[in-house]
Amino acid sequence: MRDLQRRTESYCDQVACHPASANGGLALVFPSTRLAAAEAGPGLLGGTTHSRQMFDEKLKTKGWTQTGAYSYAKGDWLIEPDTSSWMFVSTKGNPRVFDVHVPGDYESGWTVNLIEHLCGMEDERLRLRAALESIRDNPEAARQTAISALQQCFHNWLLNLKIPEKQTGRVYCAICGALRNS
Ligand SMILES: [Zn+2]
Repeated sequence: MRDLQRRTESYCDQVACHPASANGGLALVFPSTRLAAAEAGPGLLGGTTHSRQMFDEKLKTKGWTQTGAYSYAKGDWLIEPDTSSWMFVSTKGNPRVFDVHVPGDYESGWTVNLIEHLCGMEDERLRLRAALESIRDNPEAARQTAISALQQCFHNWLLNLKIPEKQTGRVYCAICGALRNS
């Protein structure tokens, strides 16, 4: 794998090609600490005003919408304030994906990428588990279910340096093997 180099924009590409699920009726029951933090509003979270602004800008650049004090949503993906310098990240399938630390100035972009990666992986887990349940419950359609499930991918684009620039195959997905025009 020494010829391979992770593309810095890979997460952006992943999100762009991974359609957000269409659930519009998300209802999550948050732990009481989360509600308390949300109701308390600004002031609980750490980070300087400047770093909060940088994080806010990075989130909005990537398509997140602010829904409250330090709360953001992107489809079914939610960020909500926890106590101190931590944020709850949740998805449709997992109301407690991870606690993520409020970033400093230089981690803003990385933190947004991390959150989107965590949410994307949770969506993948939900989708693949649903496919397995369908195979369990409808064994006569197992092959077609598997084919359909494998045709979708939360791509992880890498660069194959053995293939010249602008040629097919230079950018490929390390997970499913898909090729992308570079
Ligand atoms: Zn892929």
